[in-house]
Amino acid sequence: MRRKTARHSSLISRFLLSLSLFATLLAACQPAAATPDINAALTAAFETAVAQINAPTATPQITETPIPTATVPRTPPALPAVYQSALLKPEDLPRTYITDSCQYLKNKWDSTKSAPGTMVMVVMHHGINKGEASGNDVTVNEHKKIMDSLFEAGFTAINMQQMADFIYDNAFIPQRSVIFIVDDRHFAEYFNDHWRPYHDQWGWPVVNAYIGIDERTDLWAENAALSAEGWVDYQSHGYIHNIPISEGSTDEFITIEMGGAIASIQKYMNKTPIAYIWPGGGFTKRAVEIGSTLGYKLGFTVNERGPVMYNWIPQADAVNASNPLAIPETPAGNPLMTLPRYWSTNVLDNIDTVRVIGEEAAAYAEQNKAVELEYYDIVCAPTYGAIP
Ligand SMILES: [Zn+2]
Repeated sequence: MRRKTARHSSLISRFLLSLSLFATLLAACQPAAATPDINAALTAAFETAVAQINAPTATPQITETPIPTATVPRTPPALPAVYQSALLKPEDLPRTYITDSCQYLKNKWDSTKSAPGTMVMVVMHHGINKGEASGNDVTVNEHKKIMDSLFEAGFTAINMQQMADFIYDNAFIPQRSVIFIVDDRHFAEYFNDHWRPYHDQWGWPVVNAYIGIDERTDLWAENAALSAEGWVDYQSHGYIHNIPISEGSTDEFITIEMGGAIASIQKYMNKTPIAYIWPGGGFTKRAVEIGSTLGYKLGFTVNERGPVMYNWIPQADAVNASNPLAIPETPAGNPLMTLPRYWSTNVLDNIDTVRVIGEEAAAYAEQNKAVELEYYDIVCAPTYGAIP
């Protein structure tokens, strides 16, 4: 009995030691201001501790027979910190959202999925003016230049379902992807003039954040015809749209605003939207929660923070001088419902930055590949299986 007790206490002390070691690692490696990956780190700590408790050599021995020499359990390496970019504004820190580190690593290194460093530049469009540009609009020539420049830089446009599958599961999309989201209602002419040529030439889709109010059946009809063609992808942009959701919004208002948009698109276009584009850029923690229960998979702000990658969404914790008009996203508690967008007027200035961020992320992933695969092999493979 004495012996059993001693082994038990040694087990407990190993457990505590591994926890305290991990705490030290956390304190040493991850500055408090930049620990968006804390969930993954804690998961790793827990899994490490569990792995050690369950290690075969730790089985209490009651008999007096000599303990056979067993294979020494492999200690999983610490997972590397999330990729940081000096090209983002200092307050716009990349946030992770996959809490299961094994699932994350499996999706990341699966050769049938998106390669590490694959990113999406999300672009918000308003009007495209045949005359002078005003406000948030661009001219026809600027629009052509944006499209040609993205194409020449190796980008490919994707639709909202591809975006959701990528963000949730790292499903394959081109390494440099762009998603165009046009806000508000437009006549079919707008899409025929400014977007159809790119669909015809390159197969590029465009998303329209459509307003759900049940009026103008003529306008619904011409947009429904485009929806049926498949390359204009209609998603939700509120029901009445003109009153942005704010901290003062009631649950009833939020539900009508977000749910009503789903009902109208189902009625006129026979499809169920999966993305909510916040009218006026207004969102709250409560609206993010209600939107998720209504079935929305993704939400988009008007905040320009950077490109997005799998398990990597730049967001701010507070209003700050770098982007004083942007509502901070992390208090809303769900990066997937508060994705950033580049304004179309700023695309040309940012194409190269976005490209470099993707390349740096790919290089950082490659540098950490061996460690991550070793971790996966020790901690994850027994339950998650081999990586395809
Ligand atoms: Zn709008």
